[in-house]
Amino acid sequence: MTQPTARHVVVIGVGAVGAVSAIELLRDGHRVTVIEPATPGDQQAASYGNAGWLSTHSVIPPAGPGAWKQVPKFLRDPLGPLAVRWSYLPKALPWLVQYLLSGWTEQRVEATARALRPLLVDAPALHKKLADEAGVGHLIERLGVMHIYPSRAAFDSDAVGWRIRKRVGVTWLELSADEMRQREPDLHPRYQFGVLVEEAGRCRDPGGYVAGLAAHARALGAEFVAAKATGLKLSGDTLVSVVTDRGEVACDAAVVAAGAHSKPLAASIGDNLPLETERGYHVMIEDAGTGPRTSVMASDAKMVVNAMDKGLRAAGQVEIAGLEAAPNWKRAEILRDLLLGMFPKLPRDLPAERFKTWFGHRPSMPDGRPCLGYSRASRNVVYAFGHGHVGLVGSARTGRVVAQLIGGREPEIPVTPFDPRRYL
Ligand SMILES: Cc1cc2nc3c(=O)[nH]c(=O)nc-3n(C[C@H](O)[C@H](O)[C@H](O)COP(=O)(O)OP(=O)(O)OC[C@H]3O[C@@H](n4cnc5c(N)ncnc54)[C@H](O)[C@@H]3O)c2cc1C
Repeated sequence: MTQPTARHVVVIGVGAVGAVSAIELLRDGHRVTVIEPATPGDQQAASYGNAGWLSTHSVIPPAGPGAWKQVPKFLRDPLGPLAVRWSYLPKALPWLVQYLLSGWTEQRVEATARALRPLLVDAPALHKKLADEAGVGHLIERLGVMHIYPSRAAFDSDAVGWRIRKRVGVTWLELSADEMRQREPDLHPRYQFGVLVEEAGRCRDPGGYVAGLAAHARALGAEFVAAKATGLKLSGDTLVSVVTDRGEVACDAAVVAAGAHSKPLAASIGDNLPLETERGYHVMIEDAGTGPRTSVMASDAKMVVNAMDKGLRAAGQVEIAGLEAAPNWKRAEILRDLLLGMFPKLPRDLPAERFKTWFGHRPSMPDGRPCLGYSRASRNVVYAFGHGHVGLVGSARTGRVVAQLIGGREPEIPVTPFDPRRYL
């Protein structure tokens, strides 16, 4: 391996992607400055509030063949698992069209699955190693995750996705109602069929994990600047500085990892990328006293339930309404009611203050693939955003690839499918 020339690299944003990128850049001997306005691991980041799945098999993009038939429902039902707010529709329309087109055929979905699989395949092991190094190894578990269905027929109706998963090398165990009950005795009996993906893992506290990674980056020598990046400044194709609301930071290279807020930063050097927010929610019950032993995804509720260190978390919902609109907390109430319905032993009379709710922004490209590669304007700028539904699991490999790109080395996985220039 060629030793990279040490440079001063600014990492913008420290969610899971920025935190791992900073660590991998420091490992390569670079001087690293992190620009982040908030406390790392806090509620502002999608990396805080996600479902904690380290799901190596989450290779199927959100839109599949026939998704267009659902569009009237997305618009009609403001509280459905996927909804588009009418007021935001004109703005979202170009993104929505690209979103539907990218999943139009099984071949297109499979192309994305083949691209994502190397990004995710050994994520639980990579995260475990990173977490151990950062002193938070207990937060990563490699015990598999489970999809639960009301019936075998419901599983069969998801056939396209599972067929493609099989073709890209995912294996799983199918569980009868009895087998599932032995593993998950507290689950509502209406779930009659299960799929256990043993290679997947989970995180017991995503916010705590990111905070641990950020502290590790600091201990390795990263300098943290509490500011908001507002743009990038080039001289020709050479990066001069990152501009922030508290002044400029001169640097040799930059990594844009500001999650759903990355779009204006790329646009500041002329790269207009179709990044959208798929807004999501979670609800948590502290000391729930019941829940799944393995983290579960309910096919009917379109929601993941994960027993975390700080409580039982149910996370999901996709709302297309932009970065500015206020959250619709009815969505969190829906998650709460679905959770109570899934685990009958949960007390029915819990006071409202026992439920903690959160809302945040998945950074999503229309094709379900991240932007991971050089900006069109300069090879000193690497984009690492747009991981959509797989940003926690995908962050470990992403950080390594970021360091390889900054170092001018050949990335360890194929990155052409993630090249930002596919949209430029
Ligand atoms: C409900 C829900 C459930 C999910 N479940 C899972 C799951 O189970 N598994 C999984 O892998 N993924 C899941 N995801 C997706 C995952 O959370 C995201 O893809 C991932 O967290 C994105 O990480 P990130 O580092 O790119 O962005 P973020 O975590 O959002 O971090 C971006 C950071 O950039 C900072 N920032 C923003 N603007 C600026 C600026 N101008 N200057 C400097 N800093 C800035 C922010 O303060 C923030 O700290 C889920 C998401 C949601 C919403």
